[in-house]
Amino acid sequence: MPEYQVYDHDVLVIGAGGAGLRAAIEAAGSGVTVGLVCKSLLGKAHTVMAEGGIAAALANVDDRDSWRVHFADTMRGGQYVNNWRMAELHAREAPDRVRELEAWGAVFDRTEDGRILQRNFGGHRYPRLAHVGDRTGLEMIRTLQDRATYAGIDVHMECTVLSLLTDDNRVAGVLAYDRERGRFRLFRARAVVLATGGVGRAYKITSNSWEYTGDGHALAYRAGAELVDMEYVQFHPTGMIWPPSVCGILVTEGVRGEGGILTNKDGRRFMFDDIPPAYRAQTADNEEEGWRYTQGDKAARRPPELLTRDHVARCIVREIKAGRGSPHGGVFLDIAWIGRKLSNAADHIQRKLPSMYHQFKQLADIDITREPMEVGPTTHYIMGGVRVDPETQMSSVEGLFAAGECAAGINGANRLGGNSLSDLLVFGKRAGQYAACFARQHTAAAVDDGQADEASRRALAPFDRASGGTSPYAIQSELQERMQELVGIVRTEAELRQALDVIARLHDDVAQVAIGGHREYNTGWHTALDLPNLLLVSEAIARSALERRESRGAHFRDDYPDKDSALGRISMVVKRGPGGSMRLVPELIPDLPGELTAVIEEMK
Ligand SMILES: Cc1cc2nc3c(=O)[nH]c(=O)nc-3n(C[C@H](O)[C@H](O)[C@H](O)COP(=O)(O)OP(=O)(O)OC[C@H]3O[C@@H](n4cnc5c(N)ncnc54)[C@H](O)[C@@H]3O)c2cc1C
Repeated sequence: MPEYQVYDHDVLVIGAGGAGLRAAIEAAGSGVTVGLVCKSLLGKAHTVMAEGGIAAALANVDDRDSWRVHFADTMRGGQYVNNWRMAELHAREAPDRVRELEAWGAVFDRTEDGRILQRNFGGHRYPRLAHVGDRTGLEMIRTLQDRATYAGIDVHMECTVLSLLTDDNRVAGVLAYDRERGRFRLFRARAVVLATGGVGRAYKITSNSWEYTGDGHALAYRAGAELVDMEYVQFHPTGMIWPPSVCGILVTEGVRGEGGILTNKDGRRFMFDDIPPAYRAQTADNEEEGWRYTQGDKAARRPPELLTRDHVARCIVREIKAGRGSPHGGVFLDIAWIGRKLSNAADHIQRKLPSMYHQFKQLADIDITREPMEVGPTTHYIMGGVRVDPETQMSSVEGLFAAGECAAGINGANRLGGNSLSDLLVFGKRAGQYAACFARQHTAAAVDDGQADEASRRALAPFDRASGGTSPYAIQSELQERMQELVGIVRTEAELRQALDVIARLHDDVAQVAIGGHREYNTGWHTALDLPNLLLVSEAIARSALERRESRGAHFRDDYPDKDSALGRISMVVKRGPGGSMRLVPELIPDLPGELTAVIEEMK
């Protein structure tokens, strides 16, 4: 049996992004001991990459905004399959969470009278995104990290959780390993909060960093929790496409919020060609009106470039498929054109979008103040995740909580930009609060050493297959290629079935993976350990997508291109079946209460 370093915490948080840090701060503030484990260094979680801003109805720029409009926008964007209670809590509580961040020292861009400035973003009726240029995530992480450090949290960096340990249906701790030395660590905890982010690394073209391998989703599922809405994967419309080495890197929606337009190779602003009926009343029908909206004219309606991401991504794919794409297979995103409207356009662009300016200058030798960018869709975010109670964020496993991107509910079939950072704050806080409460009310569950030994034995198995086994990189690369090709923006039954066959074969290949060398600094081993998680989430996505025989939000079926109102009342829930096979259970979404239905009707 391996030797473990053992740690005890009342609450253990897995993940140091916005959700994990916010949960840890809240739990520590209520007097329990808190440990925080993260795969990379503190401050380097994926949240740091967030650019555009945090959505919250502060109404600083447009006083017509309120939680009610934000709620209605989120439900419309999610095509009404959202967990409505989470969408309501999020819209109501986001403004307080942003003001709290400001009080903790976050330096936001300002209105002329000194309030937090808010910018336009897709699907939000009014300017709603509190931001710091296009580096909002950096400011958010910096502020939360300072706060967490002073709260006295024990941080375990470069440490990857491999398995949740359970006692019956109650979480008891986790088995992890430190990535530098490869030694195992056993954490005992009364409550565990998963805040591990998304799954983007299951795809070839993605805006996501290396950490996004669906670990939290897979850990929860294996421990007996349910996953929901996994078919809804968001393909952000604008990622870099050229040069190939930077393909997938995000181009923030903030570019369109500041007046950027999408054109095809003929210079046509194609987004005016297809405005969905649900958005027609809110969308400008001419270019001049769209421009006035981006400049704060309250009488104007938003330009069609600011329609929801799912729709914009499909319009781009349509242009490319019709042969009207840019030279490298995307379309053009042009912010330089505002030089025709503003005398100081170049300065304005550099001030509002400094990261985008440098990103294109350094990576593609493009000056975005003078030339259009070439962009195309990139895998960005997963709306699906661990099913949680909307008030407490607890999963169906007792003492196991989830928050942030790895939890599901608030976004339904499509997330509005900016709603993730506010989700992290609102539900990170709630998860921390209720996890601490759970820890105070329960004695520690018994840790079964046998489970820890089994998890460590599994983790070390690739070293026993001395040579001739499959390379973990080859499996990862094939999975990413095939997910991109078969479970991407446009899906069909035949392709989804093919994807499931590929995933099943790759599962067998993973059982043959062989790793050379030893446990220290072994990136091949780290990749091998990520693979079962990537395959698990890929299977959940493909199975859920196969079962949803309609098109809704981010999920588009070429063989079922319309919405099906019956399926619009159903969530796809994925559970571990008897014998370990994956089981998919369609479940009815509870009806909205009358007062929330009235809010939605009023805002239509
Ligand atoms: C380029 C980019 C720009 C974006 N811009 C915006 C924006 O402007 N507004 C917005 O609302 N959203 C934006 N998003 C989305 C948003 O940033 C993410 O959804 C959000 O940051 C996720 O936060 P999180 O706390 O859930 O997870 P993360 O910030 O990803 O943190 C996950 C943490 O979990 C840890 N972890 C993962 N697995 C394990 C494991 N097995 N063991 C231990 N630790 C583990 C990681 O190390 C990390 O610390 C953007 C995303 C990208 C990629």
